[in-house]
Amino acid sequence: MSKKGKEKVKIIGIETSCDETAVAIVEDGRKILSNLVASQVDFHRKFKGVVPEIASRKHLEIINSLIDEALFQANLSLKDLSAIAVTLGPGLIGALLIGVSTAKALSYATSLPLIGVNHLLGHIWANFLEDPQIKFPFISLIVSGGHTSIILVEKVGKYKIIGETLDDAAGEALDKIAGFMNLGYPGGPIIDELAQEGNPQAINFPRAMIKKKGYDLSLSGLKTAALNYVTRVGQEKINVPDFCASFQEAIFDVLVDKVTKAAQEFKIPRIVLAGGVGANTRLREKLLEEAKKFQLELYFPSPFLCTDNAAMIAAFGYEKFLREDLVTLEVEPDANFPLR
Ligand code: AMP
Ligand code: MG
Repeated sequence: MSKKGKEKVKIIGIETSCDETAVAIVEDGRKILSNLVASQVDFHRKFKGVVPEIASRKHLEIINSLIDEALFQANLSLKDLSAIAVTLGPGLIGALLIGVSTAKALSYATSLPLIGVNHLLGHIWANFLEDPQIKFPFISLIVSGGHTSIILVEKVGKYKIIGETLDDAAGEALDKIAGFMNLGYPGGPIIDELAQEGNPQAINFPRAMIKKKGYDLSLSGLKTAALNYVTRVGQEKINVPDFCASFQEAIFDVLVDKVTKAAQEFKIPRIVLAGGVGANTRLREKLLEEAKKFQLELYFPSPFLCTDNAAMIAAFGYEKFLREDLVTLEVEPDANFPLR
């Protein structure tokens, strides 16, 4: 599927791994022609978390009209496209199934090549949409609602997970604590906002495994410590901005420490941030400080490209397209799809 002459490669990306239905069209893996995200957050809010059955139904309701709209906004028709890239996993299996079935039907009807994308590699590749010149190798910190991992990316196709959370993901911890404190859903952006008025040193929450060798981390002890603090002090007496600032600081201290240590120990001069929690103001600020201190290059996407979107799926799909790494119509989604 090599690029014919100077013809531009236009890939439609489809993403339905969790609670965002997303369709985008990206040219040559870098230029966004359209990028649509239909968030289901309003339907999940009253449950304070994503309800898989609702997620699948909502994807199904909207996916076809999003494809039409993405083509319309890019001023293209299906025959102008070069390939279809879809998230195969990881994610919620019923939700993934809607995107994958849609992509397969579209591929069957148009004979366009089909590309299966790993959602986490998509998150990392969101960076290339704004910084196309990022060099390899790099260390990526992926922090989202479902994942918290440190990955060594040597080149396209060569990835190694060097550390990850042993329990809660960072976004999950933020969302759970915000839910417990009745701050709203999803908690990450609300805590980010409230924390800006608070003192991150006000409450000394534990930084588990920060002194331990290696790059794994654990956030469940922090969550318990925060819940115990609320019970001890009493919810009505808590200074909420201080609480939020201190809670997120404990998470980010560990993340920033582990990822900068990894960069130094593996002698890799650049860090690439990815995933929804990567939109956090304080995390970005702390990483910038540390990157400066250790003379590391630091990349992070604009907030709208940190959270789930399909432009990132098309961006990584382009890499596979160039390598003729395609899937057939027999492909199935995989809730635990490996890094490839
Ligand atoms: P993702 O799983 O990549 O779609 O990202 C969703 C997660 O990112 C949720 O857990 C959100 O609470 C979290 N999130 C989104 N924006 C922010 C933010 N500004 N600060 C912290 N967490 C955030
Ligand atoms: Mg995600």
